[in-house]
Amino acid sequence: MTVSRTINILPENLANRIAAGEVVQRPESVVKELVENSLDAGARSVIVAVRDAGKTYIQVSDDGIGMSAEDAVTAFERHATSKIATYDDLEAIRTLGFRGEALASIAAVAQVELKTRRRGEAAGTRVRIAGGARDVVEPVGMEPGTAVGVKNLFFNTPARRNFLKSDGTEFKRILDTLQHAAIAWPGTSFTFASSDEIVFDVAAVDTEEQRIRDLFGERYFESLVPVREESDLLAIHGYISKPEFARKTRTEQIFLLNRRFITSRALGHAVFSGYEHLVEKASFPFFVLFIEIDPHRVDVNVHPSKLEVKFEDESGVYRMIHNAVRRALGTHDLIPVLTSVERNGTFSPEPIPPQAVPGHPQTEMRLAFLRTAPAKGGRGPSTSPATGGGTELHVVSSGERASVPPAGAPGGGEEPRIYQLHNKYILSQIRSGIMLIDQHAAHERILYERAVAFLERNAPASQQLLFPQTVELSPGDFALASELLDDLMRLGFDIQVFGKNTLLVNGIPADVRIGHEAGILRDLLDEYKDDKRNMTLKPRERLAKSFACRAAVKAGDPLSSDEMRSLIDQLFATSIPYSCPHGRPVIVRIPLEEIDGYFGRT
Ligand code: ADP
Ligand code: MG
Repeated sequence: MTVSRTINILPENLANRIAAGEVVQRPESVVKELVENSLDAGARSVIVAVRDAGKTYIQVSDDGIGMSAEDAVTAFERHATSKIATYDDLEAIRTLGFRGEALASIAAVAQVELKTRRRGEAAGTRVRIAGGARDVVEPVGMEPGTAVGVKNLFFNTPARRNFLKSDGTEFKRILDTLQHAAIAWPGTSFTFASSDEIVFDVAAVDTEEQRIRDLFGERYFESLVPVREESDLLAIHGYISKPEFARKTRTEQIFLLNRRFITSRALGHAVFSGYEHLVEKASFPFFVLFIEIDPHRVDVNVHPSKLEVKFEDESGVYRMIHNAVRRALGTHDLIPVLTSVERNGTFSPEPIPPQAVPGHPQTEMRLAFLRTAPAKGGRGPSTSPATGGGTELHVVSSGERASVPPAGAPGGGEEPRIYQLHNKYILSQIRSGIMLIDQHAAHERILYERAVAFLERNAPASQQLLFPQTVELSPGDFALASELLDDLMRLGFDIQVFGKNTLLVNGIPADVRIGHEAGILRDLLDEYKDDKRNMTLKPRERLAKSFACRAAVKAGDPLSSDEMRSLIDQLFATSIPYSCPHGRPVIVRIPLEEIDGYFGRT
């Protein structure tokens, strides 16, 4: 019987090269690992220089604790790490690195030179390794700290090299990674140079806020709303974009978990859902959220690049983030302010990353957001207290009920002046200038919130029709109506099946415009069917949206002063007055200074 050996133990060099494939996938991975090492070493200053998007050269230098001559050599062994020693340590990782694989992996697929000097030691050590084979270890004069140079990445793994993307793409990845690190570690200065040009250079500062300002510019910062929320499970703080600044791509969504950049579909969703209808479909808010959690309650050791983590209680984290975002958006005044770019010079001279520039860069007028303190009831256009959600708004097309004063309307003297423009917009004088409201969008917001409340609370307000009407529907619509029957009743429709494909309507929701009774049900069903964009919404939200859209006053409907006032009061009693359920703006504010500017009164 012959024994044939088919299993071999791989030579260590080869094993490292294979393992390297997991850790080192592109120049950005090298930058990330080296910068993490610098931060773990307590660096107050990190300098990164690359050439050809890191493909030919990467250097990362720091002023951290450095390594002894012995450690400088050991560091390149696989599983050589100073960061964990026991299984218990792995259960509660507080450093960015912990596997002891990065230096070994990088040295397996590139030519590496490491220089390091431990603080308090007289000289440093230079180690040179290429393709995993060490060729030089010698003393070197240098300041305390560590510098690692990585040349010709993937020189011995051409397949890997060929998979790299264009310089532009690889560069962007490095830039993103360095920005994430810089945001997470404001107390450390970061300098990033590419082919001898400084890309960014940020000094050590005390706060994350200052770091974000330094990195992205003042205007970027102006587009953010702060978030802060704490529980036994975790603490969240950071910034999210005002809805208007949402982008078409998913960039700039930064979660820093215990200062480690992570990606998470679930948590991203938690943020988006917090915006609910504030942003239009297929646009994404950007954010930087710091999550601090007990390291025992999260496993960071699930992915070679350490980008994904596993929470012990993911749904708890999800809820916290969702609520934090909701609350932040709910307590900040997000009414857009209309200002012209050139005149008031609100745009900072410093270069803004293109992704920070909101839409319509060419137009002279643009929307900026006013940053004001959280509203305490005084953000409305009138001095009247906002009326509760219970006040009915019966908007009439003809004015027959226009004399009914809205509840909570203030007495004559201090009435703000309001006008209807083109039967479409409400213009109101406010202390700081003027405010424009889109009447349809405003009413939609009001009806939407009320419809949602009715659907949840099961307490509809219905107006009985004097003459019940039969509505004949197509078989498809009839089936849909039957399916939605319960929820339609909750909305305030009093309907019953009345023979084949026919419904009898005894009553309609209290909010429906008079004179619109017959059409509303059919309109609603049409809107519901056609609203393809919102197929993903829960049926009730879709129903509420369809109802709000079809029952609201339209552009072109004339409104009396009282109706306008009532609309405004009710609008400001909603949870999110500045945007309609489709995510479009409801209110725009034009400051007096802006108007003064038109006439040279500056
Ligand atoms: P890990 O970071 O997972 O421990 P690495 O291969 O990245 O593994 O690094 C191995 C070890 O080398 C680290 O644990 C650390 O002790 C040392 N080291 C690496 N880079 C530095 C640095 N910039 N400053 C000080 N020590 C470093
Ligand atoms: Mg490391």
